Amino acid sequence: MREKKRNIALIAISFTALICLLAMARLQSPAAVQTSAAETVPTATASPSPTPTATPYAPEAPELRVRGEDPLILTAAPEPYADPGCEAWDSLDGDLSDRVEVSVEVDPYRAGEGSVSYTVTDSEGLSASAVRRVIVEAAPVPAVEEPAQPVVYLTFDDGPSVNTPRLLDILDQYGVQATWFVTLTHPESTELIAEIANRGHTVAIHSASHDYQRIYASEEAFFTDLLEVQDTIHQLTGTRPTMLRFPGGSSNTVSRFNPGIMTRLAQCLNDMGYVYFDWNVSSSDTVAKNTAAVRDKIIGGISGNSASVVLQHDTIGLSVEAVPAIIEWGLNNGYIFLPLDEHSPTAHHGIAN
Ligand SMILES: [Zn+2]
Repeated sequence: MREKKRNIALIAISFTALICLLAMARLQSPAAVQTSAAETVPTATASPSPTPTATPYAPEAPELRVRGEDPLILTAAPEPYADPGCEAWDSLDGDLSDRVEVSVEVDPYRAGEGSVSYTVTDSEGLSASAVRRVIVEAAPVPAVEEPAQPVVYLTFDDGPSVNTPRLLDILDQYGVQATWFVTLTHPESTELIAEIANRGHTVAIHSASHDYQRIYASEEAFFTDLLEVQDTIHQLTGTRPTMLRFPGGSSNTVSRFNPGIMTRLAQCLNDMGYVYFDWNVSSSDTVAKNTAAVRDKIIGGISGNSASVVLQHDTIGLSVEAVPAIIEWGLNNGYIFLPLDEHSPTAHHGIAN
């Protein structure tokens, strides 16, 4: 009887162990996990919870990035303002740099502050904008140095022309150097600019076109013309002059169709560190009847001056023929003849426009 009870107890223990083992196996089996997961799906489907891709679409404005420096610092110069530009990118449209609208409020010709505004709009109508500050600084102005002894600066406008070789030979004959304010109005003679410089004379700027209506129409028109002749001089001589004489002089009234243009141009040139020259001895060679009249007018003007800036025209033959007598008179009366440089007396006139 006791034996039977023991057997029943053993069977009960074994059965309990078997149940425990089966339960453990079910917990560890992947199949059991799958089954368990599968069992939860119907419950989840039945629930009204939101779908996983629920973030709503939000349009994004483009982004702008100004290229180069901001603020951009420049020195006043005759060159037009060149903006480094702006990059634009949009999450939907991609690169929009080509579609940026640029508004330039910069005067590159004089000292001051300006700005450049950029705006871009993407295909959804969303816009972005940016602003660059531009600071234009003045260049240093060369100081005028008073000559130590009485000096004559012979200056010849409007060439080179057919008269230039003759004038160069006259000056060589006396070992005298002078100044040409050159134009490009005689294309067949333009290359003589190199010869003028090679023989030691000063080549300075007058005008490419010498067309008053054109050059005094605006600052931009004036400096476009100036750059044309300056570039030509640079190609022919290797130097880029910053000395000039205004067509008609700074006191001209022919520019009054554009009120105040001469006042503004004089300020621009000053801010660029350029030097303009007028004259204090006129030859009146544009109206003179003969060489003797030119000679007498100039000698009369030089007399008693410590520094004479003489205006003649390369393009007027009878004026060129007066040069030997002028040099001989000057050398015999204690004057020296020099080419202008940027420290020479400027003989400025009063600006009349
Ligand atoms: Zn002229």
